[in-house]
Amino acid sequence: MNINTKYSEFQRFNILIAVAALFCAQVYLYAGISSAHAAGGVVADPAGVAPDRYVYYPGTEALAKDEVRVVACGTGMPDQRRGQASACFLFEFGNGEKIIFDIGTGSMRNINSLMIPAEYLSKVFISHLHTDHWGDLDALWAGGWTAGRPGPLEIWGPSGQTKEMGTAYAIAGFLQAFNWDYQTRAYKITPLPGQITVHEFDYTAENEVVYDDNGIVVRSIPAIHAGDGPVSFIIEYAGMKLVFGGDSSPNKWFIEHAKDADFAIHEAFATPEFFVKDYGQPAQLAWRACCEFHTSGPSFGKIMSEINPGHAVAYHTMEEALSGVRDGIRETYDGPLSMAVDMMVWNITTSGVTERMAVSPDRASGVPGPTRQPPPVDGIPDPMSDFIKNGEWGPGFNAQNQMLDAHSEKYNLQEQDWRPEKPWYQPGN
Ligand SMILES: [Zn+2]
Ligand SMILES: [Zn+2]
Repeated sequence: MNINTKYSEFQRFNILIAVAALFCAQVYLYAGISSAHAAGGVVADPAGVAPDRYVYYPGTEALAKDEVRVVACGTGMPDQRRGQASACFLFEFGNGEKIIFDIGTGSMRNINSLMIPAEYLSKVFISHLHTDHWGDLDALWAGGWTAGRPGPLEIWGPSGQTKEMGTAYAIAGFLQAFNWDYQTRAYKITPLPGQITVHEFDYTAENEVVYDDNGIVVRSIPAIHAGDGPVSFIIEYAGMKLVFGGDSSPNKWFIEHAKDADFAIHEAFATPEFFVKDYGQPAQLAWRACCEFHTSGPSFGKIMSEINPGHAVAYHTMEEALSGVRDGIRETYDGPLSMAVDMMVWNITTSGVTERMAVSPDRASGVPGPTRQPPPVDGIPDPMSDFIKNGEWGPGFNAQNQMLDAHSEKYNLQEQDWRPEKPWYQPGN
């Protein structure tokens, strides 16, 4: 049937308008989705594939040179829960550098789920020394050592009012606390990955450069939070300005130096009512915790309205409190916004920000990189005495001889066989 015979002139005109409007709406919708804060696309064919999902599959996308990918490896509170780690944001730069900004308790599980070789995870910036911002350093330090990191960790963090309140003191104490771990791994594996190089900088620095390497500049500004020492970081790369606020209540330095950032992460705390009702906090503590030591939703919104970032990210809230925080933010800010949850991912370029979620199996872990760890070195004292060694039960060890013989043959380890010096060794058994 010909359309001319079915519809009048007027009807045809109307159909034309309707089709045009539908087309425009689809273009608008598509453009709205892709240029807003989430990836996406139309599934045009029921037998086809979704062209672009709201999902990032770790390890499957190369970064463009002038691009930064930020992964929320922790967005929660100090008290641990299975589904949400404490503060952590991994920045992956298009030049290959990766820097972890805060490594709060539980966050290494999320980082390892990205399947990144341990050798690429050696640089950590700490905004302040609350455990929810550096409590998983042990997991990176020892776990990365076991997983093949060939060299030391490098850590940047602020000084304090006294030496004992600074990052260098904290790391020295960390290494003291984990001395047994260090000695045993250094002897059996290799010592270098157990070392930590600390770069402590002045917490009162106002937008001074604390890192400048390979096209990445990191600046520090003071933050106001619980005591002297906390800072926020301004990161410059490929003509972009990215900000990681750490913990802070509203302060003049953030307003001045985070202005016009392409991407700004700042804490936004749950409402005092939430802390009273869901947390059982005394009302008096609740309104100070949320709104004096930290930043509430409406205050976060006011800050973002003032600095006008390309994209704002709110974090540091239990997921069930997010909607309340968002309502508060929207009272004072109507710009681009992500309410961060663990494993949220942003791709950032000068032309925009895309928000997605990283998806990987619970069993995912770091994969090997190209660099081999140095072998064990001489001169490190054996941390095990003869008293303990003489307690070895021979039949238990000899039971694995067949498996070890095969392994030795496969990898040509005959000269390194550790069994012949053992009093219990019975070859062939
Ligand atoms: Zn804190
Ligand atoms: Zn915190």
